[in-house]
Amino acid sequence: MIPSVLPTYARAPLAFERGEGSWLTTTDGRRFLDLGAGIGVNALGHAHPALVAALTEQAGRLWHVSNLYEIPQQQALADRLVAATFADSVFFTNSGTEAAELAIKMVRKHFHAAGQPGRTEIVTFSGSFHGRSTGAIAAAGSEKMTAGYGPLMPGFVHVPFGDHDALYAAINDNTAAILVEPIQGEGGIRQVPDQCLKGLRDLCDQHGLLLVFDEVQCGMGRTGKLFAHEWAGVSPDIMMVAKGIGGGFPLGAVLATEAAAAAMTVGSHGSTYGGNPLGCAVGAKVMEIVAEPAFLDEVTRKAGHMRQKLEGLVAAHPEVFTEVRGSGLMLGLGCKVTNTDVVKAGYDQAVLTVPAADNVVRLLPALTISDEDIDEAIRRLDAAASAVKGAGA
Ligand SMILES: *Cc1c(COP(=O)(O)O)cnc(C)c1O
Repeated sequence: MIPSVLPTYARAPLAFERGEGSWLTTTDGRRFLDLGAGIGVNALGHAHPALVAALTEQAGRLWHVSNLYEIPQQQALADRLVAATFADSVFFTNSGTEAAELAIKMVRKHFHAAGQPGRTEIVTFSGSFHGRSTGAIAAAGSEKMTAGYGPLMPGFVHVPFGDHDALYAAINDNTAAILVEPIQGEGGIRQVPDQCLKGLRDLCDQHGLLLVFDEVQCGMGRTGKLFAHEWAGVSPDIMMVAKGIGGGFPLGAVLATEAAAAAMTVGSHGSTYGGNPLGCAVGAKVMEIVAEPAFLDEVTRKAGHMRQKLEGLVAAHPEVFTEVRGSGLMLGLGCKVTNTDVVKAGYDQAVLTVPAADNVVRLLPALTISDEDIDEAIRRLDAAASAVKGAGA
C-alpha cells in the first residue's frame, strides 16, 4: 500500500522537534550538530531570535493580502535587494523552482519584445540543478530528474560542465541566454572559476545574450559575499535567489536589471503567495543581518577556520576522503568511499551532512556557526570517517 505521504524522498529515520542555532533536538531528546541547515536554507541557524521576532510580530498583524494591493514589507525587501546588488527590480516567489520559471519566462519575453521571437534557446550545464518544476527539470536536463516526464519543455541546450568548445559550439542565432550556478550545489559543490564567470559575461555581451545566475544555494552570504558572483567582479542580467533568503521561511526571488526586466509589464506574471507579508518581513530581517559587511567578513573568517580543519580531516583519512571543495561555508568533501556511507556514519555521531552528486558530502552550516561548533563538527566527522573505515568501506 502506498504510504500516506507520497514516497518521493529517501528519508533518514530522524525526526526533530526543536532547533537552536546549529543544534537540533530529536523527538526522543538526542542533540544533533547541523551542518546542513536545511539544505543551506537556515542561513542564520534555527530559531534565530531576530527572525522569530520578525515573524511573530508580522503574524500578529497580517499574514496574507493579495498582490492586488500594495505590500509594504515586499517593497521594503525589494528596496534592500536593489540597493545591495546589480538589480533594478525584484519579483518574489515562494521557492527556487518558481524563480527558475520566471527567469525562463523573462528571457523569452525579453527577446520577444525586442522583435527577436526566434531567440528562445537557453544554454545550461551538466550537473546543474534549478528545481523540480517542468521548466526547471528541462533546463537542468539530467536523466535522473526528467525520466518519465516527457515531453519536456523545449528550448534548452545542455553543455558539459567546463567544456569551453561545446559552449561556443552551442551558441547560434537562436540563443537567448546562458543559465548557470556560480557554484553547483546538488551537482557536488562544483565551482565555476572566476575567469570562467568573466568569460561567460564576455560571451553574453559579444552575442547579445542574457546571463542568468542561479544563486539559490550559493547566494545570501554563503560564500562570504552577499552573492557568490561578486568574487568574480561580474554581474548577471537576471538572478534567481531562494533558500537562505527566507532563513527557513519559504521565500524566493528573481532579481533583474531594468533592461532584462523591461518587458515584464502589468499582467505578464503573478503569484498568489509570492511576496506575502510574512515571508517578506522575515526576508527583510535576514537581509538586514546578512548584508552587513562585518557579518560577511565573519563568514569568511569562520570559513577559513573550517576549511583548514577540513583539510586536516582529509589528510587524516586518505582512505575516506579525496579533497575539500567549495567556497566560504559552501563546502564539499570529495569521497573515496560512498558518500552516503559517510553521511549515515555521521548520524551515529550526531552530526548532519548532506550528500551531493559527484560522490560529495556537502557541508552548508548556518552562517552563524561558532568556532567551537566547527571544532566539534570536525571531531564528529573524524569519528564518522574512522567508523566508515573500520566498517571496511
Ligand atoms: C534548491 C535549489 C533550487 C530549487 O529550489 P526549490 O526551493 O527547492 O524549488 C534551484 N536552484 C538551486 C541552485 C538550488 O540549490
